[in-house]
Amino acid sequence: MSKDSSYQRVRSHLAYLGLRTASERLAPALEAAEQDKPAYADFLDLLLGAEVEATEDRRLQRRLRLAGFPHQKTLEQFDFSAQPGLDRSLIKELATLRFVEERSNVLLIGPPGVGKTMLAVALARRAVESGQRGYYTTAADLVARTSKAAAEGRWQNTMRFWAGPGVLVVDELGYLPLPGEAASHFFQVVSRRYESGSIILTTNRGIAEWGDIFEDTTVAAAILDRLLHHCTVVSIDGESYRMRGHREKLSQLRAAIAGGGEIR
Ligand code: ADP
Ligand code: MG
Repeated sequence: MSKDSSYQRVRSHLAYLGLRTASERLAPALEAAEQDKPAYADFLDLLLGAEVEATEDRRLQRRLRLAGFPHQKTLEQFDFSAQPGLDRSLIKELATLRFVEERSNVLLIGPPGVGKTMLAVALARRAVESGQRGYYTTAADLVARTSKAAAEGRWQNTMRFWAGPGVLVVDELGYLPLPGEAASHFFQVVSRRYESGSIILTTNRGIAEWGDIFEDTTVAAAILDRLLHHCTVVSIDGESYRMRGHREKLSQLRAAIAGGGEIR
């Protein structure tokens, strides 16, 4: 009887402390303990370990939700054979996440379809899985949001927001020009994060063309200066992965027509 009431008391202590998993596991853990007779410390280790695991998982799911990644792909799914020009060891080194610890940047440069977004997001996902906060945005979205914040008198808030994550993915710089105020806002985000958090930036434009993106070589130079000071530059100039499939289909089609064979 007294055993029952202490059981109830422990359950309610655990629930009161917000240790839901431990509270749920208490009964089966006690039952198993009757058999195994573990040391007191081992019993607590088992019970609290389950709670820690559940908490870690909940936090990870929350960080992943907040990161707003556009897809679920991982580095393991990246097909290096499709991109023979890409330096595999460079990606391996980035996958160690040392660049995140060092608060340095990654610049992925290449034409459309070569896997820049996939790699950027997969690296950021890895960082989030390791406990970092991550966030995904496009360059156009970033400047639209900073401009809106500036107009609404929320500049300090928005700067704090962009400075927050350990890894910020800025996708697709260069598809749209970012003149004047947009360039200045972009500069301020880069500047704010300089040596305090990593940026993984993807772009279809070589560094020499950045003056065109920002329509101002001075601000382009200032952005590049901060971005490149601690930076791994990854150039991917192979074939588009999207077009690869089409091209295969197309050549199969041609061969089939020429040879009168079947299309698989
Ligand atoms: P980019 O951002 O360079 O335009 P994406 O990362 O969007 O290219 O890649 C286009 C599509 O092809 C995506 O669905 C991506 O997951 C896939 N992809 C690109 N390269 C590879 C690769 N080497 N292995 C596997 N999938 C790839
Ligand atoms: Mg992309």
